[in-house]
Amino acid sequence: MKPIIIANWKMNPGTLRQAKALFSAAEKAAKQRKVEVIVCAPHPYLVSLRQMQKRVILGAQNCSWEKEGALTGEVSSMQLKNIGCSSVIIGHSERKKYLGETLGMTQEKVATALKAGLKVILCIERLNELHAIKRRVSSFKNVIVVFEPSFAISTQGGKRVAPGSIANMVRAMKKVAGRNVPVLYGGSVDSKNINEIMRKGMVRGVLVGAASLNPKEFATLVKNAL
Ligand code: 13P
Repeated sequence: MKPIIIANWKMNPGTLRQAKALFSAAEKAAKQRKVEVIVCAPHPYLVSLRQMQKRVILGAQNCSWEKEGALTGEVSSMQLKNIGCSSVIIGHSERKKYLGETLGMTQEKVATALKAGLKVILCIERLNELHAIKRRVSSFKNVIVVFEPSFAISTQGGKRVAPGSIANMVRAMKKVAGRNVPVLYGGSVDSKNINEIMRKGMVRGVLVGAASLNPKEFATLVKNAL
């Protein structure tokens, strides 16, 4: 099974030109190896990147829990689907911490996005969150689960989580989500630590923030995933 490497650009880069350059580099990296690369870009860049897309799978970083309607500033899962975006990150800890996203919202977003036909990249910090999502959607078909503790994120302390602890969490998550559901790890993953995380953490892949913004570093990271 191919490792899954997901780039979460967050609120970067600042210009479309830079976004295109970064995406080209990701395309090049995706060509080199037998890995699945998903790039989750800011909404304003998605339509342009869709036109350049070859191997890389295009993802967004958030969507609304509603199908449509009066929700100023929000983006619906159907809008994402209709411009050719196939995945979306839901439940990222930064949205919970800085934007007040509740577990109830996350539950509804997952249900709406799955209904729209998007693949959901579901960020989870604690097992009880995963149980809550399961109560809402019952099947994790088309879901990638990511164990991403906020304290491990590079901009929030970047605390290292021992690969053994990652593996324990992966096992526990698979018990809830299902044996065949891919479980990834996120939090300060870079070209140096990815190999150990992949080997000892029992993960199918990784969700990468800061290291995905440097084309050279990201290419090395993809190479070292195998
Ligand atoms: P870093 O890789 O910068 O720690 O970010 C992780 C993350 O939040 C990915 O969603």
